[in-house]
Formats: sequence, structure tokens, C-alpha cells
Amino acid sequence: MRRILIAGNWKMNCLGTDAIALADGVSAGADPGVDWLVCPPDVYLGEVAKRLSGSNVQVGAQNVSEYDFGAYTGESAAGMLADVGCSFVIVGHSERRALFGETDKDVGAKAARAVIHGLAPVVCVGETLEQREAGETERVVIGQLEAVAGALGVAGMQQMVVAYEPVWAIGTGLTATPEQAQEVHAVLRSTLRAHDGALAETTRILYGGSMKPANAASLLAMPDVDGGLIGGASLKVDDFLAIGQAAA
Ligand code: PEP
Repeated sequence: MRRILIAGNWKMNCLGTDAIALADGVSAGADPGVDWLVCPPDVYLGEVAKRLSGSNVQVGAQNVSEYDFGAYTGESAAGMLADVGCSFVIVGHSERRALFGETDKDVGAKAARAVIHGLAPVVCVGETLEQREAGETERVVIGQLEAVAGALGVAGMQQMVVAYEPVWAIGTGLTATPEQAQEVHAVLRSTLRAHDGALAETTRILYGGSMKPANAASLLAMPDVDGGLIGGASLKVDDFLAIGQAAA
């Protein structure tokens, strides 16, 4: 039985007082029937993690270095993220791929580094609108997932969460229909099944892309949708909690 995971990607938003207020609001209302995760900007991770310690809301980072400690100016090592209280880290978000040039190989290396340091990687995959219109969705998402599978192996993949995030739905207000999401989630699950049957049954596959209270229930009702990775709506306590309540 896969427990629903409701994850908020705060991106590069909030100053410190807003981050604490947001964390407090989420922990005060987080329904225990689902798992909760917030991913603040790096500079607030430690403070938010302390604030949420003992609550049922976990903390994750939005990115991690593919390298270990050393001369990598401006990067955060997986060991540091674990040290300040993270248990998850998002890897391969489409904004990292498109704006910062991250390749499938980089994403695999980051996921592997996360696992070594005890962090669960939330591996984002998803096609652009052009790729969808060209009928390439399956090929793209399978390729992105296989790059991480190759870097992690089955044992490492047991720590992983997958997030299907169609690029055309992120921050646009456009959402995949529940049927479109289910179709891709089923493809991802059968990709996992080819590696290991038990892995396919236990791995959570989240949907991300303009998820909000109004569309959450129908997306989360799909058999292979095991939660949400939420950007914009995770910055509003009431909306984020309402998405979790739709699942619970
Ligand atoms: C995201 O960036 O992961 C995301 C899903 O954003 P939004 O919910 O704003 O589309």
C-alpha cells in the first residue's frame, strides 16, 4: 500500500519570516492521513527543519550537488542537506534542466549522491509540449527515468520517489487531465516493473503541474497517482492543506 505524499516545492520564494509562517501553517493543519513534505530554498532549510522537527511534515531540498564535499563553489552537498534535517531532495526538476542545463546524466549522479547520504531523491520527469505533440512523451519520460535507474540500481531506487511533471503544465495553469496523468504514470510504473516487481508496487509516483484544490481530488483518485508535487499552490497554506485533504 503506497501512502499518498503531498510535497511542496517553494522554489526561490519567501524570506525567512514567510518561510517560518508557511512551515508553521502547514504543520498546524497537516492531515495525518497522508505524508507531507516541504522543500524551501536552501538558506532556510535548517531553520524550517528545526521548526518542523517532531511534526508530521518532512523537509527536502530543491537541488543537490552531484559532487561530495570539496571545492565546488556555490553548491550544497547531500551530506550537508542531511545534516540540517532534510530527508528528501528534488532532482531533475524541469527548471533545473531547462535553465541550468542539467542533463539526464547529471540527474542520475545527483540522485545517486542523495541516496549515499540517506536522502530520498524525488526524481522529476516530464515532456515539453512539443515532445507531447510529436508523440514522444513515453520515450522522453522512460529515458529520463532509465538514466536515474542506471545510476541507482534497484537497491537505490527503493529510496526514490518519482514525479511526473509535464513541462507544459508547470506554472502555466494548464493541468494534465487525470486520464493523461494516469497514462504516463502507468508507463512509468511498468518501466519500474521491468527492473523489479516489488519496486514497481512500492514506488510512489507523484503528479506535478498546476495541481490545486480544484483538480487535486480527480488526479489523486487515479490508481497510479500517489501524491502531488506542488509549486504555486504550496505557497498558500490553505490551498496546500486542501490538496492533502482531497487525498485523505
Ligand atoms: C513544480 O514546479 O514542481 C510545479 C508543479 O509547479 P506548479 O504547481 O506551480 O505548476
